[in-house]
Amino acid sequence: MRLFDTLTRTERELRPIDGATYRFYCCGPTVYGPAHIGNFRTFVLQDVLRRTLETGGTPTLHVRNITDVDDKTIRDSQKAGLSLTEFTAGWTLKFHTDCEKLGLLEPHIEPGAVDHIPQQIAMIEALISKGHAYASDDGSVYFKISSFPAYGKLSRLDERELDLGKTQNTRANSDEYEKDSVSDFVLWKSRRPEDGANFWPSPWGDGRPGWHLECSAMIREYLGDSFDLHSGGVDLVFPHHENEIAQSACACGGHFASHWFHITHLLVDGGKMSKSLGNLYTLSDLEARGFSPMEVRYVLIGGHYRKQLNFTLESLTAAREALAKLAKGARSIAARMGGDTTLTSAGFGPFQAAWDSLNNDLNTPAALGGLFTGLRDASSLTGNDAAAALAGFNRILKALGLTLPEEISDETEIPDDIQALAEKRWQARLAKNWAESDTLRAELADLGWTVKDGKDGYTLARIIATL
Ligand code: AMP
Ligand code: ZN
Repeated sequence: MRLFDTLTRTERELRPIDGATYRFYCCGPTVYGPAHIGNFRTFVLQDVLRRTLETGGTPTLHVRNITDVDDKTIRDSQKAGLSLTEFTAGWTLKFHTDCEKLGLLEPHIEPGAVDHIPQQIAMIEALISKGHAYASDDGSVYFKISSFPAYGKLSRLDERELDLGKTQNTRANSDEYEKDSVSDFVLWKSRRPEDGANFWPSPWGDGRPGWHLECSAMIREYLGDSFDLHSGGVDLVFPHHENEIAQSACACGGHFASHWFHITHLLVDGGKMSKSLGNLYTLSDLEARGFSPMEVRYVLIGGHYRKQLNFTLESLTAAREALAKLAKGARSIAARMGGDTTLTSAGFGPFQAAWDSLNNDLNTPAALGGLFTGLRDASSLTGNDAAAALAGFNRILKALGLTLPEEISDETEIPDDIQALAEKRWQARLAKNWAESDTLRAELADLGWTVKDGKDGYTLARIIATL
């Protein structure tokens, strides 16, 4: 597949550098509150990238970190009267729950910053010994940007109004320093009273790592000095990713990331999300308004990742209609398949254009459009042709990470053998024979049916949109 690369500003083919597995790193959430739907635009698009690679037959290794120590997590854990560990564990759990609801695949590795303090200290030691970092009087350590001539290449600082020469002797100690100031940035922050119990010993005294360092150290640990792709929202290009490149290139050599994938911000009602405007939405906020996580996912992939996407509540209502239309189209093909549902097809049939769109700079809106035109083109197919088309449709859905609303079938549409199995399961359940009940549930699922238990009975529904 081809994807735009922030560093070279060109579309480039994605190929694993080790010839086998596509290894990529995504900067994960800072766990001091619930992630908002802007954060999830980024995480969902990264998920679609991974799913597209895997659907195309390329195995992946997906690493996404959890930022569990920084200025904000320390400040808010203290406000909450909890230890940093308790506080961040709660928000990490919430993040995972939201991710699952939104259909995000779990990363293969999800390291946290606090668990990698020794690796971060080792990286600082390497930087000091090579002349790229220095300790200040108070025991903080800074990266010396004048020691790395390539500093600013990713974000093209030279094309901005920033004068590197005038600012290189200034220092920034906050994790979130002014986005447009170029300065030596902090690698190790010496202990301050407001840190409370959150400090670790180091060769430079007690303190804690600066935010940019954790990603460099964890990337080195899990992906080595050179890997395939690095990703985050556009706000991370400068300074976060610029600083990661500086740290990693100077400490480890290697070329770091081969490809940079940045997702443009989500806007809400045409502007930035903010608490004071009352338009900062979390997934829970939208669920409370009666929308489903899949409707949210549909909206988030409804725009191309290189363009701003404007979120409105109306767009969720439109997503509901679109998902229902897709489900209806899938049922219509399924009804024309005849008895042969065992056919497996490697291709995409009428959904080839949708697949091509995904491979062409991850054009998710065009892929969604391709689902609808594919359904139209498949409307006269029957038998094996219909079965092959449905297989293609399901592969696109899987790449997009969408599951369609299930429809409860009428009693009369349920085949006798399915009804018999479900009945057998219900009896097993009544007899509290849970193991047999589970086996029969799995058997039904293999045949494409799901059972929902109620108090006095069960209902059967056809699973249509999963492979
Ligand atoms: P954070 O938890 O603040 O570290 O952010 C997690 C991810 O969400 C990062 O990749 C950010 O770049 C990204 N992000 C933050 N705000 C938005 C937004 N409005 N739209 C898209 N991505 C965002
Ligand atoms: Zn990072």
